[in-house]
Order: sequence, then structure tokens, then C-alpha cells
Amino acid sequence: MKIKEVYCKSVLSKSGIYGVEYALNPYTGCEHGCIYCYAIFMKKFKEHKEEWGNFVDIKINAPTILSKEIKKFQRGSILISSVTDPYQPLERKYEITRKCLYVLSKHDFPVTFLTKSDLVLRDLDIIEKMNADVGFTFTTVEERVRKIFEPKASSIEKRFDALEKIENKYVFFGPILPEFSDSEEKIREAFTKFEERNVKRLYIDRINLYPNVWERMKKFLDYKTLIKYQKIRKSEEYPIILRRRVMDVLKDFSFEYKIGW
Ligand code: SF4
Repeated sequence: MKIKEVYCKSVLSKSGIYGVEYALNPYTGCEHGCIYCYAIFMKKFKEHKEEWGNFVDIKINAPTILSKEIKKFQRGSILISSVTDPYQPLERKYEITRKCLYVLSKHDFPVTFLTKSDLVLRDLDIIEKMNADVGFTFTTVEERVRKIFEPKASSIEKRFDALEKIENKYVFFGPILPEFSDSEEKIREAFTKFEERNVKRLYIDRINLYPNVWERMKKFLDYKTLIKYQKIRKSEEYPIILRRRVMDVLKDFSFEYKIGW
């Protein structure tokens, strides 16, 4: 793992993501190294040669830069984070996210988190005083599958435990994994577990096998699974069928939801 401390010029960027005006990424790269990660494009952008998941640039001056930037930006919601996990293991030592939160807590910007780590619980002392909600990403609720696709992120059990401890929360269910979490039975199982943990809001997304994501997945998936994914990659019907399936299951729940395709 190549870890580098860097000085950034900016930490808050305009976001094209639905419902958020800004994104705050305290790190470049992500230790979690999920095999379907779309943020892999950051490698090229920052000229990293290492495998995705094997490098992290730590923006050590991010809190200082943020304290200046926040005064110049118009009030709007901030996503922490869009191309990294703000609570990846390094955050335990560096506390960049925590220090940024401290800055944000002095301003009235709505904040939303997206993480796969229960380390977020450490910062509830600040988060609970803010206009903030915490989103947990799940692509599956099976630990066996989680270990294949996101081996370095928190276990399913730890995420569930964290969900139970957080009041203002939502779940990002995605990318739904073909063959692993996309059957009606698996979707229903996941929704049931979210409901049991008092989750009221769901964002749901399918997988997008962009060329760079696909190249990476080829290194990790077995041949049989790859053949199935190859078919799905080319299929125009799959997104339609999956959406219909998700909608059918949603009828039996009372989530406030948004489907991303
Ligand atoms: S936690 Fe998020 S940013 Fe990090 S590797 Fe996984 S998908 Fe990518």
C-alpha cells in the first residue's frame, strides 16, 4: 500500500450527483479497493500506476483549505464522499474527515455521508449536532459475497450494528450485483434486513460495467461468473428486467426510495 501525504489546493468540488451540490473527498484513492469501484478513474486523473485500492493520498491540509473555501461557497448540501470512503481504515489515524467535520459543524451546510465503514460511529458526537445524515452502502447482505467484492470494507454485521446506532440514516443499495444480489429473493432479503433496522430511505442502483471497471473485475471474478457478467454487460434488457423486479419487491415495503436507472 502506497500512502502519501499531500497538500491540496481545493477540497470542496461542485457535484453532478443527484441531490447534492458539493462533494468533499478527504483522500484520493481508497483502501477498501472494492472490485466494482467506479472511482477507479481517479487513478488516471492523479497519474497513479498502482492497482486501485493500493494507494491513498492523504490531503493533510484539507481541514484548513475547507475552512477557507466554505466561506466562499453558497449554502448547499455536501456529500462526504463521492470518490473515496471518508471512513477507510487510515482515517482512524489521520482524522482528516473528523477535522473537516469540525469545520463544517460551524457552518449551516447540510451534510450527507456515504460509507462502508462503522468507523463513522466514532464521529457521532459531532454528526448528531449537525444537519447531517449517514448513508451506508450495501451491495449484498451476505458476508460471503461481501468478501469477494469489497474484502477490505467493514463486514455486513458491523454495518448493520452501526445502522442500528444511527438515527438519521439511509441505505444506498448498489451496485446490485448480478448473480449475487439481483434475484427477487436476494433483493427481498436485503430490504427486509434494512427495514428491521428502521431504515426509511433507500437509494438503489444497478451495476455499470464501464471499460476500466470491467478490466478490473476480470482480474477477480471466476470464469463462470465472468461469462454471465459479459452477457449482462451487453444486455439492453437486463436493466429493464431488474428495475421491474426491484419495483415489484418495493411494493411490499414502505421505503421512500429512488432508483438510479
Ligand atoms: S468504498 Fe467506495 S470509494 Fe472505496 S473502493 Fe469501495 S466503492 Fe470505491
